[in-house]
Amino acid sequence: MSESQTSVAENRAWSPTGREQEIDCNICKSQNKKLIAVENGYKVVRCADCGLVYVSPQPTNVDLQEFYDQYFPEESGDIWGDMMRRNFDRDSTHILEQMPPIGTILDIGCGHGLFLRRFAEKGWDARGIDFSPEAVAAANQGENISVQQGEFAPGLFEADSFDAVTAWYVLEHARDPVDFVAEAYRILKPGGIFGMRVPNMVFSNIFLALKKIPKMDELLFKLNIDTDGKSSHFNIIDPPAHLHGFTPKTINKLLSNSGFDRISIIPSQPVEVGSKGTLAAKNFLFGTTSVVSHLTGHAFNPAPAVTAFARKR
Ligand SMILES: [Zn+2]
Repeated sequence: MSESQTSVAENRAWSPTGREQEIDCNICKSQNKKLIAVENGYKVVRCADCGLVYVSPQPTNVDLQEFYDQYFPEESGDIWGDMMRRNFDRDSTHILEQMPPIGTILDIGCGHGLFLRRFAEKGWDARGIDFSPEAVAAANQGENISVQQGEFAPGLFEADSFDAVTAWYVLEHARDPVDFVAEAYRILKPGGIFGMRVPNMVFSNIFLALKKIPKMDELLFKLNIDTDGKSSHFNIIDPPAHLHGFTPKTINKLLSNSGFDRISIIPSQPVEVGSKGTLAAKNFLFGTTSVVSHLTGHAFNPAPAVTAFARKR
């Protein structure tokens, strides 16, 4: 979610309800974890075995439903799609170049359907699913776009039915990323492509380290002026909006465990929001982290967010 949206959780001072449940690592099932931060009253831990960052105790479905009911209070228009324009252009081209000229796509968490529009225009059967009734109504006004409202749950779609399934900034919100990816795999046709984008914990870890320096937390708080003019903390997860934090290494494990191959993980394009100065800084950060990532053959990828593609066998 966008920076302005993540700060919503903070401004509303959302806190644990006491119904949260202790969980094990979603990817490797290890119980071995280390507390790395407390954010909005929630414990953020890192799996000592595979490195997955997650919130434990984890909020229940009921608590999350309540949270999300207030999460997009005055969201209007397709701001998110505008912010994501560069990613959407690059990633739709990537998929269209590799797939048959006419195919079928499902975009999970599709919002106003701006990513799907790029496929509908080419004659693809463009389908989506999203929590927000308002976003679904807007998306369905697009020609050749069919979006349903709700949660991406097992069994909603037929097996082997999509050429592409995408989930941009969704998996960090999921209570069970392994189940999510397994279901995406099931509904893809053999050879079909899966695309996902999540915040990158390699980048967040830099802030986590900085926050341990005396006075630095205060300085970071002052620096992080949000779009509404208020300062907010550099939270690495920001629960309960986000429940999992991934690195290229854990994304690779998540996807390969589900059966995917031809996995590629690349830096995401900067989100187009903020003042001119902020945009320049973001472009600089994107450029620098991309160069580092390329120079290391993507072995070290410190970009703020990463995009992954993988193929069903
Ligand atoms: Zn683990």
